[in-house]
Amino acid sequence: MEWVDWLLSQDIRKFVVDHNLIIPLVFIVRLFGVTALELLRPARKVPYRKLMGKDLILISIYWFGMVPIAESMDQVIAIRPHLPQVVHDMPLLLRLFCYFLIADFGHYWIHRLMHTAIVWRIHKWHHSPTHMYWLAGFRATIPEHVIVNLPYLFAYSFLDLSPSWMELTIGIFNNLQNDWMHANITWRSDWLEWLIVTPRYHHIHHSDKPEHYLANLAALFTIWDRLFGTYVDPDSVKDDLSFGIGEEVPPLRLVLGV
Ligand SMILES: [Zn+2]
Ligand SMILES: [Zn+2]
Repeated sequence: MEWVDWLLSQDIRKFVVDHNLIIPLVFIVRLFGVTALELLRPARKVPYRKLMGKDLILISIYWFGMVPIAESMDQVIAIRPHLPQVVHDMPLLLRLFCYFLIADFGHYWIHRLMHTAIVWRIHKWHHSPTHMYWLAGFRATIPEHVIVNLPYLFAYSFLDLSPSWMELTIGIFNNLQNDWMHANITWRSDWLEWLIVTPRYHHIHHSDKPEHYLANLAALFTIWDRLFGTYVDPDSVKDDLSFGIGEEVPPLRLVLGV
């Protein structure tokens, strides 16, 4: 088909890369793709019209205002070890596995730290949505973004000598994983939950019930919750969940994490 040839032509690819359009295009695919999945297999009723306009404005502020500040701070404080050549000689798949394992282990403990009284305020914004759907998961205050990124930057040393597309691919994967774990999708797969976080697994973490306050903290691999005593079996949660932080915090304080 001609239009497919045109879409995949070198000119179009060059235009997309030259104008930094990959991330916006992926976002449009997420917007329609994940929303369609949610409409096909919804876990709960979500007032999309009421939420989406506000969330799209917020995510724009987040991406164009907060993320650049957080990432420039990370450039200064991140530890990026120089690993011996023997690590770089390992097969790419093995290095990729090490990257995810180390980064996700660090994320688990930083997440756990953010659920302690002393730093809870920098994580509150993430827990403020009262409806779980894919756009509910982007909220991270600048300090949260800074510290959560640190293990990922540390672990990226395993991928230093990787093909040029690796960084972008991982960035897209991390966004999709975040969409997935917050998505309003009914999904039941016990074997998959032995490996990775699913929507119903992470939704328990967003529950406003006190007994779920420290439940299911993992971001990607569920093994951390099982190992470190924060696992709650989604099958054991019989009541429908409600979400949010259960208190009124001025929006600016929430967004700034102060
Ligand atoms: Zn949390
Ligand atoms: Zn979340």
